[in-house]
Amino acid sequence: MKFSQMFGKTSKTVPADADSTNAKLLTRGGFIMKQTSGIYNYLPLGLRVLTKIQNIIRQELDAAGANEILMPALTQEDNYIKTGRNEALNDILFRTEGQGGTKLVLNPTHEEIVTPLVQKHVFSYQDLPVAVYQIQNKFRNEPRAKSGLLRGREFSMKDLYSFHTSQEDLDSYYEKMQKVYDKIYDRLGLGDLTVMTYASGGTFCKYSHEFQTISEMGEDTIYLCEKCRIAVNEEIIKEQHTCPACGNKNLIPKKAIEVGNIFILGAKFTSSFDFTVTDEAGKEIPVLMGCYGIGPSRIMGTLAEVYNDERGIIWPKNVAPYQVHLIALGKEEQAAKEADKIYEQLIKEGIEVLYDDRINVSAGEKLADADLLGMPYRVIVSPKTLEKKVVEFKERSATEPKFIALSKLIKELK
Ligand code: ATP
Ligand code: MG
Repeated sequence: MKFSQMFGKTSKTVPADADSTNAKLLTRGGFIMKQTSGIYNYLPLGLRVLTKIQNIIRQELDAAGANEILMPALTQEDNYIKTGRNEALNDILFRTEGQGGTKLVLNPTHEEIVTPLVQKHVFSYQDLPVAVYQIQNKFRNEPRAKSGLLRGREFSMKDLYSFHTSQEDLDSYYEKMQKVYDKIYDRLGLGDLTVMTYASGGTFCKYSHEFQTISEMGEDTIYLCEKCRIAVNEEIIKEQHTCPACGNKNLIPKKAIEVGNIFILGAKFTSSFDFTVTDEAGKEIPVLMGCYGIGPSRIMGTLAEVYNDERGIIWPKNVAPYQVHLIALGKEEQAAKEADKIYEQLIKEGIEVLYDDRINVSAGEKLADADLLGMPYRVIVSPKTLEKKVVEFKERSATEPKFIALSKLIKELK
């Protein structure tokens, strides 16, 4: 992508209503643009990051045998009346009316939709287990929409639902998902900061498990066992005040952002819809269910929140919008020509590159933009580097650049 053709501009000024590092940096970088409280536009650079996060999640779930579907954002209120959540979720539900006064809800989560949907396709124990997921925008009228992408009123969620004929089968799938989640956070670059956390459960299970990324911006307090890298959410610390894995009593309080949450739901929703199957003996048994959420847009905000310095964002490689930020410096034709050539070469090699080809923009401004936008590698071509047949090469996280022969650049990047 050529900078000169890119939609979305960087800005030196911090938006007045930006209340957090992620809101400031992502808006200044032209990744996102606020629509209204808790609702954002994703501009090209931001959409690339969000899509990469979603695709990492997608790849890992597909590899685990889950089926991707897409459910509607709008649903008739009746489904929520059936489960009792028309009232329980009343405060956060966005409601609207269709033709003829049909009452509709913008889904804040999809148990009410997925349960009857799967029910229509499952007839006997032989059709189970099955797992479906979607990546879609959710709508919650949060009382305190804040902190940029961390708490939105419209936000991206991956929600997976699994259906089983026995508690053992559900439990073993749930444990498998814990491992899949660890892998996902590793690939997102959050592995070292993210810990599985015991949290309050529900009617059907004692605990749920949250995935919490340690950050001062977090709204949650977790108590961490540093040895096991497992934590207990403050909300259950009275009940569970030792490490659930090793019994360690010396748990360390940390602020953290909830980036995922998995639940054993049991028959909580399937019973509302009379979702049963016949077992091998021809007996009707209840279908048991688990649900597994991750927030891709909150993860994007979290990454900007935890990986930055005073100059801008430092994206982990797997989610960076582009791998290389190529800059042509100086007004001389030759540097621009050489940079054009490198740009074409990188594209041919399949290396994602953002090329700052702007003329009439100062070197200082271009360098500041590269730091703000945070691609992993910065490559500079200037009359000075050309003289020596090299390019200046710097990792975003490094302090000092190095110089690489033009002919060796591709090899270095690969
Ligand atoms: P919270 O306690 O932060 O309000 P939650 O427990 O209600 O979140 P879940 O219903 O478990 O959230 O949703 C699954 C995931 O979706 C969360 O782990 C989080 O990553 C993401 N998420 C939830 N609410 C929001 C929001 N308002 N904005 C952005 N992401 C969200
Ligand atoms: Mg949660």
